[in-house]
Amino acid sequence: MVVVGAGQAGLSSAYHLRRAGYEPDRDVVVLDHSPGPGGAWQFRWPSLTYGKVHGMHALPGMELTDADPARPSADVITEYFSTYERTFDLRVRRPVKVQAVRESVGGRLLVETSAGTWATRALINATGTWDRPFWPRCSGQETFRGRQLHTAQYPGPEEFAGQRVVVVGGGASGTQHLLEIAPYAASTTWVTRRPPVFREGPFDESVGRAAVALVEERVRQGLPPKSVVSVTGLPLNDAIRQGIADGVLDRLPMFDRVTPEGVEWSDGRRVDADVILWATGFRASIDHLAPLKLREPGGGIRVEGTRAVADPRIHLVGYGPSASTIGANRAGRAAVRDIRRLLAGEPVAA
Ligand SMILES: Cc1cc2nc3c(=O)[nH]c(=O)nc-3n(C[C@H](O)[C@H](O)[C@H](O)COP(=O)(O)OP(=O)(O)OC[C@H]3O[C@@H](n4cnc5c(N)ncnc54)[C@H](O)[C@@H]3O)c2cc1C
Repeated sequence: MVVVGAGQAGLSSAYHLRRAGYEPDRDVVVLDHSPGPGGAWQFRWPSLTYGKVHGMHALPGMELTDADPARPSADVITEYFSTYERTFDLRVRRPVKVQAVRESVGGRLLVETSAGTWATRALINATGTWDRPFWPRCSGQETFRGRQLHTAQYPGPEEFAGQRVVVVGGGASGTQHLLEIAPYAASTTWVTRRPPVFREGPFDESVGRAAVALVEERVRQGLPPKSVVSVTGLPLNDAIRQGIADGVLDRLPMFDRVTPEGVEWSDGRRVDADVILWATGFRASIDHLAPLKLREPGGGIRVEGTRAVADPRIHLVGYGPSASTIGANRAGRAAVRDIRRLLAGEPVAA
């Protein structure tokens, strides 16, 4: 058995495999191309403190207790994942990049990596989205004289001191960037394709369930998944309310072109800028599965539970409806249950 990725989804899967009696190295390998533990959290910006993440669920079998909300989540979660891997002896191999997964003779899958090839009868894919930042194409983008960066490269607000910053994107990252940058910047402009939807009231279980159901329906149809956050709307918390009152979260519709000096709308409006920050989300990082031709004409992989409908040996965890820390936990357990049925405990060849 091969698990690709050791973020929340991959570690949850590895934990459940271990509990089911699969021995690390002998029966299971967990491969991850990042330098250290933490999944995508290890790369998140220092100002994303643990207190600012909403609803980080602990991994199965070990609570995350007494974390200081003022510390960067990158540090808190990296330490927690690191302890978790040691405690359950998960033996993640890193940095190992999975380059391609192919069919081989005898019903096995060949997992080609930067550290050799493994043959396996089933694969849990837990590669997240961080490696595929989504940059929308926009006319004139290449002519801009200032700096363009994506959330994936966001360094924190200080670097934008005295600059004119355009933030594109109506999700949680975009609003967080704006609220952080505004006190430092000369000016900020918020641009979103659709008017943002602010959600009153608590993010309780029923809101979460309804959001997950919407994303689930998309992947069942073979459409590219949307993020769970994109269908829940933005929580109207104190910081957001303040941002609206201060005019920082005063949104403009998407501009029509980028110019060397800034951005421009067809009605003649323009905003000069030093920086365009694209907070435009991420896509599933699954290019290495391309040789298996799992994608539907709609562009996504049809998934039932965690199982790829086109190939029951492949499970996608942390994908679509399970792309949250709680969803990833549950998906790991479900994938292992399903795969055990498929394999009836047979060891895999390395
Ligand atoms: C800015 C931001 C804030 C978020 N905040 C929250 C929050 O507050 N609460 C919440 O529940 N969710 C949050 N999420 C979503 C949450 O991060 C994810 O749902 C969850 O942590 C992702 O876990 P994962 O294991 O699926 O992916 P990741 O953590 O991305 O782990 C994937 C792993 O796969 C590895 N990998 C990728 N490709 C390959 C390959 N080809 N070969 C080998 N290894 C590979 C990577 O190195 C990485 O370690 C946030 C997301 C973002 C972008």
